[in-house]
Amino acid sequence: MCGHYECGGVKAAMGNQHIGLIDNWIRHLKDVYRLHHEELDAIEDEDKRFKRFVEINVIEQVWDLAKTSIVQNAWKNKQDLWIHGWVYAACDGH
Ligand SMILES: [Zn+2]
Repeated sequence: MCGHYECGGVKAAMGNQHIGLIDNWIRHLKDVYRLHHEELDAIEDEDKRFKRFVEINVIEQVWDLAKTSIVQNAWKNKQDLWIHGWVYAACDGH
């Protein structure tokens, strides 16, 4: 799983504008915001809040993937499967 800072989708989910076709996808991001609004709303700096939202979204996607039957069965069968959550910073390549 890899997210990235400065993500336009995450940025859009932080606002209230309708942006047409990707509204459906934005809805999932808004659910992530709703789950974590206490932590996110406590971050006063908008840029820091934006960065943290990107990170939390990756964490939630890792959970979602871990809950799938494919991954659950692999772990049940003691397969050596790992899920890694990453955030890529395009600005400096880290
Ligand atoms: Zn993006």
